[in-house]
Parts: sequence; C-alpha cells; structure tokens
Amino acid sequence: MIDLHTHSAYSDGTQSPRELFEEAARAGITVLGLTDHDTVAGYEEAREAARETGVGLVTGIEISTRLHGKVVHLLGYLFDETEGITQHCIRVQEARVTRLKNMVDAMAEDRLITWDEVLAVAGSEATLGRPHIADALFKRGTISHRDEAFATYLSPRSPYYRDYWAPSLPEAINLIHDGGGVVIWAHPRADSRGGAHGWSAINEGIDLGIDGLEVDHRDNPAEDREKLARIVMKLGLVRTGSSDYHGSGKHNQLGEHTTSPDMLDRIAHKATMEVYYP
Ligand code: AMP
Ligand code: FE
Ligand code: FE
Ligand code: ZN
Repeated sequence: MIDLHTHSAYSDGTQSPRELFEEAARAGITVLGLTDHDTVAGYEEAREAARETGVGLVTGIEISTRLHGKVVHLLGYLFDETEGITQHCIRVQEARVTRLKNMVDAMAEDRLITWDEVLAVAGSEATLGRPHIADALFKRGTISHRDEAFATYLSPRSPYYRDYWAPSLPEAINLIHDGGGVVIWAHPRADSRGGAHGWSAINEGIDLGIDGLEVDHRDNPAEDREKLARIVMKLGLVRTGSSDYHGSGKHNQLGEHTTSPDMLDRIAHKATMEVYYP
C-alpha cells in the first residue's frame, strides 16, 4: 500500500515522523510520502524512521499557492533541496508567523487565546497554521476537535481570519521543477476559500506544467473523481491517491486512498531524487 500524502508535527500533523512511520508499518503501508506544509525539516527524522520500520520514504512537500485569488495546494516530490526551495520555506515560515500572530492578537482581545498558548502546542519547529490555534483552543477546553474551530473561529468568514503571502501557482511549479521534482495538484476539487476550483483552472494548472492530479482523496467529491481520472488518462498525467493523514488532527486514516505502484514508478523515473527503500 502506497500513501503519498501525510503530515507530521513539523507542520500540522500530531505525530513525530517516527510515530508516523511506526503507525504506517502497523497499517500495512509499504511506501509513505512525507508532505509537510512548506517545510523539509522532517526528512532527516523520517529517513531514520524509514530505516527502523522498513517502510519506504518518498520525500515531499505541500506548498500553499494561489491561483485567481484561491488557494491551490501543490505536492512536490523527490526534488533536490535547491537554494530557491530553502528560501521559499524561510519566507513562508515568516509570513505564516506574522499571519497567525495577527489572528491570535485579535482573538486575545476577546480573551479567547494567547500567543504563548499557541506556541506551546505548536513547538518551535512546526510550520504554523490555523490547526495550531485549534489545538490551543482544545487544550483550553473551548472546543472538542479541530473541526469545531475550523467551523467557527478559524473559518474564512470569521472576523479573526487573516490571509497570508503565498507564491503563485506557476512560481511554485517552477520551484519544484527547478529542483528536479514532480508536481501534483493536491485534492484539486476540494472546497477552498471561495469554493472549489473550476475545471478551467485545473486545465490551466496542467498547461502550466503540473505533472499529475491527486484524484483519490476524500476532499474530492466522488463524482468529480471520475472526471479527474478521465482527464489524467486522456492527457497521460500521473494519478495519485492518498490519505492526507494528520494524526488525530483530522479524521483521515492512513491508507484510506492509495497510489498504484505503476504511478509511483512514473514519479520516481521523472524525478531527480530516488525513493528511499530501507
Ligand atoms: P492554514 O494553512 O493555516 O490556512 O490552515 C489550513 C490547514 O488546516 C490545512 O493544512 C488543513 O490540514 C487544516 N484543516 C483545514 N480544515 C480542517 C478541519 N476541518 N479540521 C482539521 N484541520 C483542518
Ligand atoms: Fe494540513
Ligand atoms: Fe492540502
Ligand atoms: Zn495535506
């Protein structure tokens, strides 16, 4: 079983890479992709964990980008860590800190949460995001699951919501391609701020050089998966499927959607870096 999209505590997952790999081994996963948001900080620990558990590792990243004012999550796989990618991660980390601090300052005025509480749950090395505010609210007992915070305080319609800088879709595609990586549009038909992207936007992404689509993902409505699959087939693109597992932070379960060995081979052949088979 190949699951190419998961998160550790280096972003908004709830487990260390080691815990993630141990759980993957128990779940019967043979190859796991680590795709933390806008960071590569988990790779070293993931490689050790892969060695210890015998689960293969596909190094990856999930980059938040923008197209026509809406968010596109882009998965990059098996790239070299170029200077451009390092600089991207530093810039986004800073933008995300400023943005989250702005949200928390507004919430603190209403005595909902403090910045120290958010930092305490996130740890010092995580790519910060709204899930960390949710975790701090959970710790206070204000909410009983991250979901609840996303439906209220953290929703884009909330008065506390703030946006943050993200690269444009073409910039992010080039960043990963310059590092010799493979680029997949994550959960292309998921609801994003302002609604899901239309089919013309998806075609635009393909014209911009996207190598494949994450067809099998719980956030793509079932009827759309068939259409996505047809597009991928017709254009000879890479088709992936994955869980987008976040530990206990989301309901998604490891291996709930998977990628075929053929498709993993195609990714590996296209990319500079190799899959790490311990
Ligand atoms: P941000 O990047 O700070 O805007 O936060 C977006 C992140 O929140 C995504 O990476 C998701 O993993 C996570 N997220 C979005 N909706 C939910 C939800 N309902 N429950 C838990 N996590 C969520
Ligand atoms: Fe996430
Ligand atoms: Fe995503
Ligand atoms: Zn994800």
